[in-house]
Amino acid sequence: MMNDRYELFNKLCLRHVPLSEQSSYGIGGLADYFALPATVEQLVTILEVSSLYGMERVVFGMGSNILFPDQPKQGTLYISLKNMANISVDESSWFLTSGLPLSMLSLVGLLTGSSAFQFTYLMPGSFGAGIYMNAKYYKEQVGDKVATISYIDLTDPALAVRQIRAEDCEFAYKQSIFQHKPWIIVGAEITVPEQDGMNFHVDGISRLLTHYKDSNGKLSSLFSFYSFFSSELRELQRGRRRIDIPEPMLDIDQYRTGNRHFTYRSCGSFFKNNYAAGSSIGALVDRLGLKGVAHGGGIISPYHGNMILNAANATAADILYLKDMVSEAIHQRYGFIPEPEVVIMKE
Ligand SMILES: Cc1cc2nc3c(=O)[nH]c(=O)nc-3n(C[C@H](O)[C@H](O)[C@H](O)COP(=O)(O)OP(=O)(O)OC[C@H]3O[C@@H](n4cnc5c(N)ncnc54)[C@H](O)[C@@H]3O)c2cc1C
Repeated sequence: MMNDRYELFNKLCLRHVPLSEQSSYGIGGLADYFALPATVEQLVTILEVSSLYGMERVVFGMGSNILFPDQPKQGTLYISLKNMANISVDESSWFLTSGLPLSMLSLVGLLTGSSAFQFTYLMPGSFGAGIYMNAKYYKEQVGDKVATISYIDLTDPALAVRQIRAEDCEFAYKQSIFQHKPWIIVGAEITVPEQDGMNFHVDGISRLLTHYKDSNGKLSSLFSFYSFFSSELRELQRGRRRIDIPEPMLDIDQYRTGNRHFTYRSCGSFFKNNYAAGSSIGALVDRLGLKGVAHGGGIISPYHGNMILNAANATAADILYLKDMVSEAIHQRYGFIPEPEVVIMKE
């Protein structure tokens, strides 16, 4: 039995994988070990065997909010959950696994008549990380939409899947309990608040999922991500379903393309917003005249002051240099140090 697990582990565990290909930043050196489980059972096997080997583990989703190191620590196993992408839907609830793209939720909403997830349209990243980060767009955040979250506690020798209710998850602005616990989110149930009487397009949902799985692995490029979801949306509008595209989703497209979200490699806003000085971080960077400042291959976005872009083969060191420059300038002028939103992985 255990031998089977070692065998599966060896099959799932790839060697010398460039982390740059696993992040929307396009930055990161070679991971000694890398795994892409497709099911909870595969994840548990990977966790079990890697623990017996005493390996350090880093679990992540689609890499849209992580700056990987230029030289990852030797012997570390990086585990991406992006292939754990499944969904089951019935009339009053959905169960979604962690690897499902956040943007997919908005399209599933269109197919089921729910507007609850329109705000995730074109938001890069996975559902599990969306819970971990409590991802938000304007006034809506993922933590407000989930009912029960399933997770594995890494300190539990049995690695059993447990449940926690959303109200116990300490969701706050870009915060959740998961940021302070050795827990891996494997999925969550959502209670769908509204049904407008549309027919259930179950076949449409499985078609979407199949399209996504066929393209999976290629969506770390933000441009491919945008092309995929915007063309799936057009297909729902123009295809036999003739679904009307809600105004908020059209506005999101305009906002994100206008701010060049999909033109350059980035991890979105670098810092959490902090209105201590009365304005967003992006507005402060603008006032400090830092937009467009470059270092190595990195540049502070000329379009949005709170984004630091990989313009041309930037290294993690280039991005961190610009991050320090912004932090120091804000500290000197406005008296506080902005907290990074992008997760910075140590070497
Ligand atoms: C162009 C652009 C625009 C963006 N706009 C927004 C926005 O409007 N609002 C917003 O909130 N964010 C935004 N982001 C950030 C990003 O979309 C979210 O943070 C998203 O939730 C990241 O998902 P991911 O799978 O890529 O996470 P990753 O980068 O893979 O991981 C992020 C963190 O979550 C942890 N994590 C990931 N999965 C799990 C899991 N299953 N269990 C436990 N921990 C986990 C990782 O360890 C890591 O610490 C943007 C990013 C980009 C590139």
